Amino acid sequence: MITIQGKGVSKGIAKGKLYFYRRPDTEIVKQTVSDLDAEKARLAEAQAASIAQLEALAEKCRAEASEDTVVLFETHAMFVEDEDFVECITSVMEDENCNAEYAVREAGEQFAAMLAAMDDPYMQARAADIRDVAGRILNNLMGIVPGGIDSEEPVILAADDLAPSETLQLDKSKILAFATQGGSGNSHTAILARTMGIPALCGAGATLEEAHSGRLCYIDGETGVLYIEPDALTLAAMNEKYEQQQEMKKLLETMIGQEDITLDGRKMMLYCNIGSPEDVAAVHLNDGQGIGLFRSEFLYLSASDYPTEDEQFEAYRTVAQAMKGKRVVIRTLDIGADKQVDYFEMQKEENPAMGLRAIRICLNRPEVFRTQLRALYRASAYGKVAIMFPMITSVWEVRECKRACQKVMAELKAEGIPFNAETEIGIMIETPSAVLIADALAKEVDFFSVGTNDLTQYTLACDRQANDLGKFFDPHHPAVLRALKMATDAAHAAGIWIGICGELGADLEMLPTFLAIGIDELSVSPAAVLPLRAAIRQSIAKTCTLEKLGC
Ligand code: PEP
Ligand code: MG
Repeated sequence: MITIQGKGVSKGIAKGKLYFYRRPDTEIVKQTVSDLDAEKARLAEAQAASIAQLEALAEKCRAEASEDTVVLFETHAMFVEDEDFVECITSVMEDENCNAEYAVREAGEQFAAMLAAMDDPYMQARAADIRDVAGRILNNLMGIVPGGIDSEEPVILAADDLAPSETLQLDKSKILAFATQGGSGNSHTAILARTMGIPALCGAGATLEEAHSGRLCYIDGETGVLYIEPDALTLAAMNEKYEQQQEMKKLLETMIGQEDITLDGRKMMLYCNIGSPEDVAAVHLNDGQGIGLFRSEFLYLSASDYPTEDEQFEAYRTVAQAMKGKRVVIRTLDIGADKQVDYFEMQKEENPAMGLRAIRICLNRPEVFRTQLRALYRASAYGKVAIMFPMITSVWEVRECKRACQKVMAELKAEGIPFNAETEIGIMIETPSAVLIADALAKEVDFFSVGTNDLTQYTLACDRQANDLGKFFDPHHPAVLRALKMATDAAHAAGIWIGICGELGADLEMLPTFLAIGIDELSVSPAAVLPLRAAIRQSIAKTCTLEKLGC
């Protein structure tokens, strides 16, 4: 047995074979070929495989009644065989006597550039589709497995580290758990694992070697231990712990349908954090009463080009409708720092956590912002959508965001497109600056949501990504908790509600402090809802104290 100790970042026990993630090597090299006919046959095979994949995807969406996405995949399948596109590929191959990969990439780029240069916005948006189609044919030519996991059965996925964009593109149905050499519990990959409700550990270091691939493992996401080929004693202990967890799960299920209220009648809104429409199933399963944070940037991270207004609208509408009138807070694009998106072509920054990220990018790129706001307002006609802006530091930023919203609403009105003009607007409180001017900010918006992950990072000057800062990264620090209290007092003085959507919200030990501070809402990963509900229902709010604030 080999025991590897990391840091547990998502609870649960999983058993399966270890699979080491390999990054697809997408560098395309031009090669001269001796047998052009054989190369054309390879191309035809890749086209056929692409069409089969797209038809299967369309079929899956049809079963899920997602008609717009069915049309999207059907259109992509047509693109694969488009006469002009195929002719362009073959003429590159013939003219340059080159490999199919190079020709597909060249033809894809030529077509995308041609579409992007058109006046018609609809045709411009098709550039992304052609790039997507070319990418799919390329994957099939190069034998890159969609989802990156070349295994029939689900696996425990190991990696050096995983960027959020990589995690999102993995085939989730094949993942039992994550184990990474690097990373931190506050990284977005760890957050994604918690949202997906699967065990995960990070910071395992070099002992987590690729040579262990294929061996049977147990992972304990609570203690952060990975056992490779466990001995009989460990096996028995793991099985027992698994059984206990299953029993606890059953016990917690009795909380489904119960109100989120303390013994002395204080109500708490208990919402969920999600990253995609697929996560709504887990929200329902765990009886979340709304969505307090939809990290919309995950839509951008999982795409190979800017998601169009229609694609975004479809995602937001799906969530709004599925939540049946319950509040759905959708955060506008929050990329930058660890969430890098290639097609944004951002300049490399020395210190990206303090650089151009989140709302700063949106305010600098009004077209990107406008597209998202149009999609959000269009979705507001289908449910109780609220819009939230991340990384706010100044009042002028909020005013500029609100002006952008007004402009979009005026456009939609002129176009006769329905939207809810009363859509709530909120901001994230995740910088010390926002806390210090919370009184002024509260006059501008309908709600606050505290991002304790970033608030801890910026208040304590501790990189949330670093896994070796240990006890220095302390969300329980009195400075963070006092910031929470200041923001809450400012919100309540202005008559608006305040929640927590950072990871601290799920910390059961902190619940009495949140009740004492007067927090109105907690938004947590779906699996954290029922344990919190059980704790809320056993609490007496008026006996909770501010002791942890050190005052
Ligand atoms: C936070 O900072 O606490 C937050 C919820 O946002 P994110 O983790 O996505 O930065
Ligand atoms: Mg944040």
